[in-house]
Amino acid sequence: MKNTLGPVWVIAEQIDGRILAVSLQLIGQVRKLADELGTSVEVVLLGDKLDEQTQQLFAAGADRVYLGNTPDLAFYQPELYTEIIVELAKERQPEIMLIGSTTTGRELAPLVAARLATGLTAHCIDLVLDENQILEQRVPAYGGLLSIICPEKRPQMATVARGVFPTPELDENRTGEIVPLDVPEEIPRRIQTLEVVREEPESVPLESAPIVVAGGAGAGDLEGWCKIAELAKVLNAALGCTRPAVDEGWAGLETMIGQSGRMVSPELYIGVGLSGELQHIVGIADAQVMVAINNDPQSPVFEQVDYGIVDDCREFIPVLIEKIKEYQKERV
Ligand SMILES: Cc1cc2nc3c(=O)[nH]c(=O)nc-3n(C[C@H](O)[C@H](O)[C@H](O)COP(=O)(O)OP(=O)(O)OC[C@H]3O[C@@H](n4cnc5c(N)ncnc54)[C@H](O)[C@@H]3O)c2cc1C
Repeated sequence: MKNTLGPVWVIAEQIDGRILAVSLQLIGQVRKLADELGTSVEVVLLGDKLDEQTQQLFAAGADRVYLGNTPDLAFYQPELYTEIIVELAKERQPEIMLIGSTTTGRELAPLVAARLATGLTAHCIDLVLDENQILEQRVPAYGGLLSIICPEKRPQMATVARGVFPTPELDENRTGEIVPLDVPEEIPRRIQTLEVVREEPESVPLESAPIVVAGGAGAGDLEGWCKIAELAKVLNAALGCTRPAVDEGWAGLETMIGQSGRMVSPELYIGVGLSGELQHIVGIADAQVMVAINNDPQSPVFEQVDYGIVDDCREFIPVLIEKIKEYQKERV
């Protein structure tokens, strides 16, 4: 019997021709969903000078790649990218469409969802099919996990951060079909990316750091925050944060760990002055050792970690920094 379900889609992302890990992880996950649904995996990849990159997408599990490969697409262009994806989706009628929760994906996904008049669940931490083959899009909420479904509209759209799903083993023997895409001529280009200037990260990148120090509201003020930052520096750790630290302006959004931020998997995680809310904790995947410093012995964070220190971080951290420095001197 012919399967009437549309394909499952991943909108892949690349920077300077390098496919992002999250795109490969999403392909790995939709491969499983597609196999359960009995349909195919299709990937849309837009950019320039991408002839070599499609093989990686097939190796990760794609059956077909729609490739927009021209200088006009070299940088992410919101209106142009949206137009291409929307028109193709109208034609191909995908059942599911996944996009990485990256800076680009967070903008592109709602633009596409609005044009296709469908639902979108942001920052999912799991995706499974229910008994009716509807996609359960799971997000942390109310202290647990909430499953969101989009039973009628198609595609079922979700964004997912890097690290939520594992990177699939690449099967270099897999191949597939490449379908070249044309750039439509008449597109409103009210917003155009002319140039991309990259900031050099100030510290070790969060995602690959062996040690992560994360600060929260308990820092109290900028002075308290600077002490947490100093702790990260002496440990040669990456500095992460919770939402309140971003809201207070102590830390940049790009350093927020959690459901709507980064995913980290360090050997050592030290959470300072934070309560261990699920939306933050889901961002710490497979940390080997977790430590929390909190002045409230009843704080739920202590249920999440291996070692807990009950103290005022504003007093404890400066002492800890001195001790670490002394230890480091002795070892030289
Ligand atoms: C849809 C959605 C998505 C979200 N996504 C994220 C996300 O990606 N990442 C994220 O972090 N949050 C996210 N949040 C917010 C999240 O729910 C929590 O509000 C946030 O993580 C709490 O941050 P916190 O632990 O720093 O602050 P609080 O919960 O206020 O905890 C502060 C802690 O500091 C302790 N403390 C106070 N003073 C001191 C002191 N002097 N010394 C030591 N400890 C002290 C307190 O005992 C308390 O436990 C999201 C929320 C929603 C609704």
